[in-house]
Amino acid sequence: MEAEQVKVLIVGSGPAGYTAAIYAARANLSPVLYQGITPGGQLTTTTDIENFPGYPHGIGGLEMMEDLRSQAARFGADIRMGVVTRVELTDGSPFRIQVDGNKEILAQAVIIATGATARYLGLPSESKFMGLGVSACAVCDGFFYKKKKVAVVGGGDTACEDALYLSTLAEKVYMIVRKNYLRASKVMQQRVMQTENIEVLFEHNTKELLGDDNGLTGALLVHSNGAERTIEIDGFFLAIGHHPNTELFKGQLELDQEGYIKTWPDSSQTSVAGVFAAGDVQDSKYQQAIVAAAGGCMAALDCERYLMMQQSEE
Ligand code: NDP
Repeated sequence: MEAEQVKVLIVGSGPAGYTAAIYAARANLSPVLYQGITPGGQLTTTTDIENFPGYPHGIGGLEMMEDLRSQAARFGADIRMGVVTRVELTDGSPFRIQVDGNKEILAQAVIIATGATARYLGLPSESKFMGLGVSACAVCDGFFYKKKKVAVVGGGDTACEDALYLSTLAEKVYMIVRKNYLRASKVMQQRVMQTENIEVLFEHNTKELLGDDNGLTGALLVHSNGAERTIEIDGFFLAIGHHPNTELFKGQLELDQEGYIKTWPDSSQTSVAGVFAAGDVQDSKYQQAIVAAAGGCMAALDCERYLMMQQSEE
């Protein structure tokens, strides 16, 4: 099968991918963007985004991603459904990329914006009740827990946001926090503390999830002093951070200890010339939509410069 030739291939459709597409399209680089498994990325599973500049009253995650997508499409970005299944980056440009296991693409430059995925605790009982009470997406699954009892694990902004969202549906929300404080921003902490049906269980870890064939019924928790207690819950929501989606790039690009793609300082350039990375896939520190969007802009500009240099060398 003959490979399709493209100038710039963008992998991923979160704020980084779409912003890269907007900039690359406006620079006449005819970008082709593959959306991946979750078109729109992580923000499509969040509720209101209140801290993205330009939306004084906040905006729904889905709506914002749709706005970014249509903005990129307006400038001619070729946005496609499909998942990149294999990449060959080490031989240099043009890079051979496989999509959906069968389509081959040869790209002069690649922008990776594959983001990150929710972490789980790794308990066997967690996998057992996956989809039967265990979820990493409160916004997707919260609806099923109307007037029920649920727990959220984690003490960051995501956990607080999830607990607040769930508190509007469920009868009771426990937050299981392993430290004796919340890591979340002050405003989120205050909201949680002021919400009557949220109970924060500080210094608790989850030892086991309990249930039967019908699903989850409770969780066995252990306090840092060793005391154990059981809470009755129907839903268990993970909000303990993310890991980068870099499986495809192992052995081809330099990754840091946690698996994030390494980029040059103040640049989106990866360890392979012509391959750029932007957003949560290379940012373990900030993990904000606005930072990811800025990264996408940087990647498109870096890419444009790279292609110009390539052309002048020819
Ligand atoms: P964070 O890394 O900020 O928080 C993860 C939380 O999970 C921490 O409380 C951590 O505990 C806890 N945790 C990690 N591993 C375990 C474990 N094995 N068992 C129990 N608890 C665990 O991740 P978030 O997803 O909350 O946030 C990521 C970034 O996104 C942050 O910068 C955040 O500010 C931002 N964000 C902003 C939002 C907004 O402004 N609207 C919404 C959501 C996220 P510990 O503190 O002990 O390490």
